[in-house]
Amino acid sequence: MRVTEVAIFRIDLPLADPFQHATSGTVTALQEVVAAVRTDGGITGWGEVRGNCTYVTGDTPERIVGVASHLAPLLAGEPLEELAPLVHRMERAVVGNSGARALLDIALHDAAAKARGISVATLLGGRVHDRLPTDAGVAFGPPEAAAEETRRYVRQGYRLIKFRVGLGPRQDEARLAAIREAIDGEPGGEEVTLAADANGAWQPKEAVEYLRRWEKYHLGWMEQPVGHDDFEGLRFVRDNVSIPVMADESAKGPREVLRLVEMRAADLLHFKLIKAGGFVPLRAVMAIAEAAGIPYMIGGMDDGMLASSAAVQAAAASRARWFEVHGWKRVKTQPYRGLEMEGGAMMVPRGPGLGVEVDEKALTCVHVVRI
Ligand SMILES: [Mg+2]
Repeated sequence: MRVTEVAIFRIDLPLADPFQHATSGTVTALQEVVAAVRTDGGITGWGEVRGNCTYVTGDTPERIVGVASHLAPLLAGEPLEELAPLVHRMERAVVGNSGARALLDIALHDAAAKARGISVATLLGGRVHDRLPTDAGVAFGPPEAAAEETRRYVRQGYRLIKFRVGLGPRQDEARLAAIREAIDGEPGGEEVTLAADANGAWQPKEAVEYLRRWEKYHLGWMEQPVGHDDFEGLRFVRDNVSIPVMADESAKGPREVLRLVEMRAADLLHFKLIKAGGFVPLRAVMAIAEAAGIPYMIGGMDDGMLASSAAVQAAAASRARWFEVHGWKRVKTQPYRGLEMEGGAMMVPRGPGLGVEVDEKALTCVHVVRI
């Protein structure tokens, strides 16, 4: 079976609750880019990535559409069953641009798994998990609102709660104290892990100052305290606080992850398809972390269900210790069906491919490459 056409679509998915963190600005809608890889066997593989991701990958929807259109002709030739040569060809053809590479890599995996009648998790080596307990994210807002949101999550069954910092030291600590009190006051609160994410908002020395003061709040980890390219700063924080430090924005593809490991700059790692560039490089970063004995999380962006389902499939076949795959839950309406949650856990779909159905009529086609 060979690829005959790649169609690229756009859709904006409005959020039920707009969110904001240290580097995102206010996000009211997810500007998604969707790809359909069509084959001569009549199978269509789908992929989706978030386009308005300038603060993580430098991407805009237009850039992803442009680069994916440039890469699509490279899917000619090899049969779809031989995925790796197609993916490697894309990797060689463009520097960076992990979002566009992930988009096509995900659609190829969906098509290849559907052609075999198996899920992407099975294609990736086999299902380790049937359900993925996911974290819930508390976005910026006053302490009372953060406490209320936290109580709701604990009652819904979430056992990992992550809140954003970077509003300023006083506000951050007031929110942290309110969230910790809310967790401790709920039945089952003793089972909840609380983690913080600064999305690179701090300088290394302020990170150390705040985190030493926050030891009494028992944080499970502190995610990306300093800027994405400040590996030395990350190591400085790790060496000077007792709270484990997780690298997210710094932990992009295999090269960056290998450097983090060599420098011993992080206690924990957080991987996402859009940063790695798809399932093939994601397997490489997971292998590096496993060889180094560093626990990791598989996550996704706030994203459409189709994009989240790719993270779910990758996570289901992984040895990840934590999962952040709730991103699609914030979206008001979306043209996808297939993912379900049960009490703070994402159920891994059993159907072929990504396990998500797409209503193509709801998407706007912006480019078609015939191969
Ligand atoms: Mg993060």
